[in-house]
Amino acid sequence: MADIIHLLPDAVANQIAAGEVIQRPASVVKELLENAVDAGADNIQLIIKDAGRTLIQVVDNGKGMSFNDARLCFERHATSKLTCADDLFRLTTKGFRGEALASIAAIAHVELRTKMAEDSMGTLLLIEGSEVKEHSLIATSDGTSISVKNLFYNVPARRNFLKSDNVEFGHIEEEFNRVVLTHQELSFSLYHNGKLVVQLQPTNLKQRIVNVFGNHFQDKLFPVEQETDFINISGFIAKPENAKKKKSEQYMFINRRYVRHPLLNYAVESAYSELIPDGYKPAYFINLEVDPATIDINISPTKVDVKLQDERLVFGFLNSTVKKSLGQMSLTPSLDFDYEPGMDVSNMPKDMTLKEPVITHNPDFNPFHSHPSSGGHSSSGSSYSKPASSHGDFDTSGWSDFLQSLKTETETLKQEVTETPRLDLQDSPASDPSETQPEDLRCLPVNKKYIVANIGNGLSVIHIAHARERILYEKYLMAIQQKPITVQQSLFPETITLSPAKADLARELKPQLLKLGYDLESIDGTHFAVNGTPNGDEGEDVQQVIELFLEAYHSNLFLHHAEKDQNLAMSMAKQKCASFKPMTEMCEITDFLKQLFDCQISNVSPSGKTIIRQFDAAEMESWFGK
Ligand code: ADP
Ligand code: MG
Repeated sequence: MADIIHLLPDAVANQIAAGEVIQRPASVVKELLENAVDAGADNIQLIIKDAGRTLIQVVDNGKGMSFNDARLCFERHATSKLTCADDLFRLTTKGFRGEALASIAAIAHVELRTKMAEDSMGTLLLIEGSEVKEHSLIATSDGTSISVKNLFYNVPARRNFLKSDNVEFGHIEEEFNRVVLTHQELSFSLYHNGKLVVQLQPTNLKQRIVNVFGNHFQDKLFPVEQETDFINISGFIAKPENAKKKKSEQYMFINRRYVRHPLLNYAVESAYSELIPDGYKPAYFINLEVDPATIDINISPTKVDVKLQDERLVFGFLNSTVKKSLGQMSLTPSLDFDYEPGMDVSNMPKDMTLKEPVITHNPDFNPFHSHPSSGGHSSSGSSYSKPASSHGDFDTSGWSDFLQSLKTETETLKQEVTETPRLDLQDSPASDPSETQPEDLRCLPVNKKYIVANIGNGLSVIHIAHARERILYEKYLMAIQQKPITVQQSLFPETITLSPAKADLARELKPQLLKLGYDLESIDGTHFAVNGTPNGDEGEDVQQVIELFLEAYHSNLFLHHAEKDQNLAMSMAKQKCASFKPMTEMCEITDFLKQLFDCQISNVSPSGKTIIRQFDAAEMESWFGK
């Protein structure tokens, strides 16, 4: 019988490979941009027509290709980035599989113009459906220009499958963003149908994010930074109050390559879990630097899915780094030293990268810890001893330390800025807290809802109910996890009645309720004797507190899959918030602020609401015009 197996012609093999690598115009954009970055270009232009259907062109000023390489690069498995299998574990380039150009050439009309700086002539190569139409010497500038026309001209199924121009161009922009956000030191521009859509100059990462997503991002970002022998984590996370219900800007990079990794995404999102409502997504831009030998990027042709050798370790580092950053964020409400409104980067030397000023920051600092006797997580009542007052009823000794620490931070920053002359802090609108003397500080309740205080050279507005929810939440979490609330035993126990379902839940949560100060004893199916209540909360309606607490706990459990301890603390905090009377005495307000700044996180409530808004002098200035 005759043999029937034969090798597929290259053109067919390439077309099959293209099916995996090139799904839509955006896939071509990704491959071409990555090749330009790998070629060492520092200026890259992306030119699109009809959302990539008619033309996708990338022009770079990278190292270019020789006459022969210009032909060879369209062969399958033709790459300059890999020579042996071991190289797979030392990769620092974006590409390595050597199949992108071969795939693209199989399903489009491609025109390549390229020249190496040391050559006097460049090369022109025309190729259609893997067939070389022209290969000649031409005069052209240094670098490479590659034009991909009539994509999928010979694959009607793919061509007809493309979505509207808006959708396809959206995908292109997304791929463009993924590259520009990891290469802030390079210039990029994007044209669509003859119009300039985006132009990006070299800058620092924060400014690049702002340039890509708009000025409103300026105030939303907070740095993440962690360096260890095993992993370096850097980038920015958005403040919790800016989390969005639907899709948010979430960018995870490993060794400056955009990756999709559900576990890493979860590591970031779960760090926010107490700070934002369920279903909300925080924005983040995080790059992880790991040893290339510990990551496998070769598990999918598009290299977006990756496998990490030690996922759990990376998860732990990332999760705790983001948590630490969120904690620091709460201590530096809105003193944004990174803000550089008029920074001119156009005349910067090319080989210089921007160094961002680093704010040295003591995460353990607490403005109210200068009096150890008054510190700690006490109950929301009156167990704080009141330090000596320096201004009427309002004690400013705690603020004094707070201001001193900010002053030190500002000075460190200024020092660093002197070493980095391009960042001119003098023009920065960030407040200089050293201008305020402690005795000038005032705080005032407004409308029973807010406290207004002057911090630094600005103004802080504190939302009382949100702050109270945070204080109580942390108090109850502490009670459950470490230091139970003292129970005041009753001489004549009151009886409460619960529905059968709530009674079951109350029995299940009996040990936790005891830690929260409620000593309940089941009498029968639905009745409980209240043998004790939280010390200091006498006179409350126990029946109502317990009922509403159980109801909140139950619904958090099913609606939001909340973690048990957090759920207990949150549900109790909610009930207790309702029963507070407005503060009238100044000492009550200072006590309250002390407790707030004693919290691990003090600018967002556990249900994700903003607690503090800060307005610095420059911002106030802008309210009234020049
Ligand atoms: P890979 O990037 O995986 O190596 P490609 O098919 O994308 O595979 O590219 C093949 C080769 O062509 C690259 O290894 C590189 O040597 C060369 N090349 C591609 N694009 C450029 C470019 N813009 N400038 C210089 N060389 C390039
Ligand atoms: Mg490539």
